Amino acid sequence: MEKIAVLTSGGDSPGMNAAIRAVVRKGLYHGLEVIGIKHGYAGLMRGEMEVMDLGSVADIIQRGGTKLYTARCEEFKTPTGQAQGAARLREWGIDALVVIGGDGSFRGARALSALGINTVGIPGTIDNDIPCTDYTIGFDTAVNTVIEAIDKIRDTATSHERTYVVEVMGRNAGDIAMIAGLAGGAESILIPEAPFQLPEVLQRLQHGIERGKRHSIILVAEGVGHGMKIGEQISEATGWEVRVTVLGHLQRGGSPTAFDRALASRMGAFAIDLLLQGTTSVMIGVRGQQLVPIDIEEALRTPRSFDMSLYELAGILSI
Ligand code: ADP
Repeated sequence: MEKIAVLTSGGDSPGMNAAIRAVVRKGLYHGLEVIGIKHGYAGLMRGEMEVMDLGSVADIIQRGGTKLYTARCEEFKTPTGQAQGAARLREWGIDALVVIGGDGSFRGARALSALGINTVGIPGTIDNDIPCTDYTIGFDTAVNTVIEAIDKIRDTATSHERTYVVEVMGRNAGDIAMIAGLAGGAESILIPEAPFQLPEVLQRLQHGIERGKRHSIILVAEGVGHGMKIGEQISEATGWEVRVTVLGHLQRGGSPTAFDRALASRMGAFAIDLLLQGTTSVMIGVRGQQLVPIDIEEALRTPRSFDMSLYELAGILSI
């Protein structure tokens, strides 16, 4: 193997740049030629490639987003699109590809692998919704962003003695809401993994008021529904003035935390080790402190695990 490529695909997440940097520099360290592909699979099909050198990834470890840009590409889901992508890689003499993205992007990597291109996937998404890994790159940064927002909202919630609903991202996963709620002391956390029952939420709020609480923060994962609607439901049931904040895309940006930078650096370097061993069609996961290669097939069919004990703990501590 002499020449490899790297691309980012799907939703961006903070730490993707640190992963690109690690792939490029560890690849160069081992004497490989490294090509950066812009705009994910769309750019691959169009041949948007550039040679990466040590300087091309300078000054990006601290930046959110992705230097290689990202895209969604419907055409790449078809056999014709995938064949075109594989042909482009061969044209450039590229033997192997590192794909940084989520489960959709890994499906693309699996398809290329079936066409004879060695692929390794690195999980990059703020949602932490990839099976077989404790963490994805960007999750920790997003949680920290949410906590910062909760702390600020709490200042005004306390001053005005109000109830606030804060809607956070996560797609179908409640991880961001759960960890940010636990670490930010939210009074209630609504996640898709646990059934949402309005009476239960109201009971918790009432209990808080009875013991002297003057404000509440209810964290809603987007997978549960719209924060605005839930705010209205609470307001109608109680007659209180409820304010709603939807944090939105600010959760996807920002400088990655030390945790995400270190995880991304480790995973990027490990991807090169795996490719040098001839491994293909694997995703890198982290379990405890250990990086592990997981067959993409297995990762895609394994149900995502969710630690309900942390959710229960958040409930006990915020009462
Ligand atoms: P994520 O990787 O964050 O889950 P998407 O699901 O949008 O994001 O997937 C990103 C891209 O990966 C898609 O736009 C498409 O190009 C490619 N992709 C997704 N699903 C498949 C599939 N089944 N086969 C091949 N490529 C796919």
